[in-house]
Amino acid sequence: MGKITGFMEFKRLSEASLPVADRRKNYHEFVLHLNDDQAKIQGARCMDCGIPFCTTGCPVNNIIPDWNDLVYRGNWREALDVLHSTNNFPEFTGRVCPAPCEAACTLNINNDAVGIKSIEHAIIDKGGENGWVVPQPAEKKTGKKVAVVGSGPAGLAAAQQLARAGHSVTVFEKNSRIGGLLRYGIPDFKLDKRLIDWRMAQMETEGVKFQASTFIGKDAPEKNIANDAKKTVSPTELLKKFDAVILSGGAETPRDLPVPGRELNGVHYALEFLIPQNKVVEAMTRRSEASDETTSHSTRPSKDTGQVAGYGAEMASSHPLPQTAGSAITSDLASVVGSPSRMASSSTSNVSRDVAGDGRNPISAAGKHVVVIGGGDTGSDCVGTSNRHGALSVTQIEVMPRPPEHENKPLVWPNWPMKLRTSSSHEEGAQRDWAIVTKEFIGKDGKVEKLRAVRVEWKDGKMSEIAASEFELKADLVLLAMGFVSPEQKVLDAFGVEKDARGNIKADTENYRTSKDKVFAAGDMRRGQSLVVWAIREGRQCARAVDEFLMGSSVLPR
Ligand SMILES: Cc1cc2nc3c(=O)[nH]c(=O)nc-3n(C[C@H](O)[C@H](O)[C@H](O)COP(=O)(O)OP(=O)(O)OC[C@H]3O[C@@H](n4cnc5c(N)ncnc54)[C@H](O)[C@@H]3O)c2cc1C
Ligand code: SF4
Repeated sequence: MGKITGFMEFKRLSEASLPVADRRKNYHEFVLHLNDDQAKIQGARCMDCGIPFCTTGCPVNNIIPDWNDLVYRGNWREALDVLHSTNNFPEFTGRVCPAPCEAACTLNINNDAVGIKSIEHAIIDKGGENGWVVPQPAEKKTGKKVAVVGSGPAGLAAAQQLARAGHSVTVFEKNSRIGGLLRYGIPDFKLDKRLIDWRMAQMETEGVKFQASTFIGKDAPEKNIANDAKKTVSPTELLKKFDAVILSGGAETPRDLPVPGRELNGVHYALEFLIPQNKVVEAMTRRSEASDETTSHSTRPSKDTGQVAGYGAEMASSHPLPQTAGSAITSDLASVVGSPSRMASSSTSNVSRDVAGDGRNPISAAGKHVVVIGGGDTGSDCVGTSNRHGALSVTQIEVMPRPPEHENKPLVWPNWPMKLRTSSSHEEGAQRDWAIVTKEFIGKDGKVEKLRAVRVEWKDGKMSEIAASEFELKADLVLLAMGFVSPEQKVLDAFGVEKDARGNIKADTENYRTSKDKVFAAGDMRRGQSLVVWAIREGRQCARAVDEFLMGSSVLPR
C-alpha cells in the first residue's frame, strides 16, 4: 500500500521523454523509466484503499498494490516476482499498455492516479538490468506436445506457461521473425524489438521451440509483407503430431474504405506502411550490432529449418535496453533525467539507426502531405512514422466526434473512459480532425493527390452528413488505419472451427476450446482486435485450459 500519507504528500510524476526534435530523428525508444527514487515516491502514493480496483481494471489482474508497496520499501526483486506472477511480459505492457488500471485507481476519483504503468516499467527494467530475469524450466516433462499457431503476445504467453508446466511446445509463425504485432505492427520508438529477442532467449532455454517462416493452414497466401512462409503445414498434419493446438494468429484482416479512387497509388493500409518500416529499422539495428563486437546475439531463423538459432544454455543475463536507449542520445538524457548513469553502458552505435529522409521503406512519407484515416493506436503509429520519414504535413481524421477533454469521473469511474487522448506521436506534430467521412480519393496519372470529404454530426448514435460541408484535403499518401475486422477466414476454415458473428473463432473464456477436438483459441483471433495485455491474459488462461485438458488438472494460474 505504499506510505499511508503518501498520496497527500507526493504528486504524480510522469516518465520523462526526450525532446520532440530529437526523437523525430530516429526510431529509438524515447520514454525513460523512473529512477529508483522517483519510483519509490510514486509507489508511496498508493493508498490503503481497501478494494484495489486497479487489479480488476488490469486485464492480467496485476497485484498492483503489492508491488507498489515493495518498490516503496526498496524491495525490487520481490516486486519483480509479484509482477511476473500475473504477467509474463511486463517489458511490453510497461511500454505500450494504455493502462486501464490507472483509470480504475481509487486515487483517480479526485486526484491523479498512481503512475502504475511507470512503476511496472521501472520494475522490469531494473530486473533486466540486474540479471534477475532467468529461465524457469520445468522440473519434470510431461511428454505431451502442444503446437501454438502465431507468435504474438497471446501465443508467446501460452507457450511460456505450457513449457513451464512441462509440455513440449512449438510456436509456429508464418513470418521470419517472432513476435506478431509486437514485432511488425508497433513501431520501434514505442517498443524496442530487442526486448522480444531477450524474452525469446528465456523461453528457448525453458524449452520452447520457435518454428518461423511456417504457415499453418491450406493454400498459403502469396509471399507478402505479412507472410514470409517457406513451408506450409496442414491442420491435419499438425493435429497428428501434437496433443493440442492453440490458434493465436491475431485479427489480420484490415477494414477497407471502398470509395471511388481507392485503387489509386498512394492509398495504403496502415500495416503496408508500418511493417516494412519495422523491417527497415530491424535491418539497421542488425547492421549496427554486427559492427559492434560486443554484441553477439542472433535470433535470426536458420535458413534450413526456419528455427531461431538459440542463445545457448544461458540466457543473456542483462537487459538489452540500457544499450538501446543509450546510444548517442546520452547527452540529451542528462538534461532530461539528470542522472544518465544507467545509460552510460551504451555500446550500440546509433549512426546507422538515424533515419532522416529514410527512403528505404517502399512507401515513403518523405516530402508528402500525409492523411491518416482512423484515430486509434495504429493511426497514431502512422503519424509518428510519417514524421520520422520527413512528411511535409500529417493530418489524422476520424469519423467519430471529438471526445471530451476530461471524463465525467463520478459517472464512469472505475471504467475506461471515453476522452480525448493525445499520444506521443501526436505531440510530435499532426493536425487532428473529427466527425469526417471520406467520400472519394482523387488523383492524376493513377496517383492520389487529394481526398474529398464531408463533415458529419452524430445524434443518438446515428450519423448524418452536414449539408454543404464538403471539402478537399491535399494528400500524396493516404494511410487507412480504421481497425481490423476479423482473423484471416481461410485459416479458420482450414481448421473447420466454428466462428462467432464477427468472424472470430468461437470459444469461451472458461476453457478456450473451439468446436474442434484438441483445438483451442486465444488472443485477437478469438476476441477480435484488442490490446497486448488482453492477448497476454488470454494466452495465460488458455494455457491453463490446455494443461487441464492434457493432464486432468492444472496448477497454472488463470
Ligand atoms: C499498428 C498497431 C499498433 C498497436 N499498438 C498497440 C499498443 O500500443 N498497445 C496495445 O496494447 N496494443 C496495440 N496494438 C494491438 C496489439 O498489437 C494486438 O492486440 C496484439 O498484438 C494481439 O496479439 P495476438 O497474439 O492475439 O496476435 P498478433 O500479435 O497479431 O500475432 C499473431 C501472429 O500470428 C501469425 N499467424 C497468423 N496466422 C498464421 C498462420 N496461419 N500460420 C502461422 N502464423 C500465423 C501472424 O503472422 C502474427 O505474427 C496495436 C496493433 C497495431 C496493428
Ligand atoms: S498491464 Fe496495463 S493495465 Fe495492467 S498494470 Fe500494467 S499498465 Fe496497468
